[in-house]
Amino acid sequence: MSYKLHLCLSLHLNEPCVLFFFQKKSNTSEAQEKCIVRLVLYHVCVNLPVMLVSYPTFRFMGLRSSLPLPHWSVIISQIIFYFILEDFVFYWGHRTLHTKWLYKHVHSIHHEYATPFGLTSEYAHPAEILFLGFATVVGPALTGPHLFTLWLWMILRVLETVEAHSGYHFPWSPSNFLPLYGGADFHDYHHRVLYTKSGNYASTFVYMDWLFGTDKGYRKLKAVEEVEGKNY
Ligand SMILES: [Zn+2]
Ligand SMILES: [Zn+2]
Repeated sequence: MSYKLHLCLSLHLNEPCVLFFFQKKSNTSEAQEKCIVRLVLYHVCVNLPVMLVSYPTFRFMGLRSSLPLPHWSVIISQIIFYFILEDFVFYWGHRTLHTKWLYKHVHSIHHEYATPFGLTSEYAHPAEILFLGFATVVGPALTGPHLFTLWLWMILRVLETVEAHSGYHFPWSPSNFLPLYGGADFHDYHHRVLYTKSGNYASTFVYMDWLFGTDKGYRKLKAVEEVEGKNY
């Protein structure tokens, strides 16, 4: 069920009817088809086995599906913890993936699309999918949440990564309301720039890149755009 939820979210959130066209795309229909085929293949051959194998760990750590549901304060605090932990693990893993050998042999697949669209959020080398999966499940694996919390976390995480790869700055994007939230603009820059200079490695928030000085190029660009009055 968790697997089906993840697969449906990944595919349906990318239907063009929900998109606002703020950015010109350069991906051909063949390139998009290739992305969909690989994505389905990876979901069946990589994501599904990982979920089956990790299930006993979740159970051992206290995952439960029985009623009553946890108190809302427990659900919210666990979800916030998962976002912060995932962002931290993702930042360092992603930054490592931008070293020469790993980029060439692993991460360059995710960067095939310089103007990403929602589906490319999970388009990556199987080894990277395993790593991303680890960053996503490490929080729940440590805390043994209720199944409802786990599903809510998965929904929010997929929404977050699809929005970051959509290439569209939606009016309802959390980046318009949450000061530390990255969003599509932040991650789009990462895909547009040469891999050694891209920066913006974090998945959700901007503070890790700010703390470790890997957002300098992005900040410079924003400063220039502000002076020139450019906007999406
Ligand atoms: Zn990257
Ligand atoms: Zn990306």
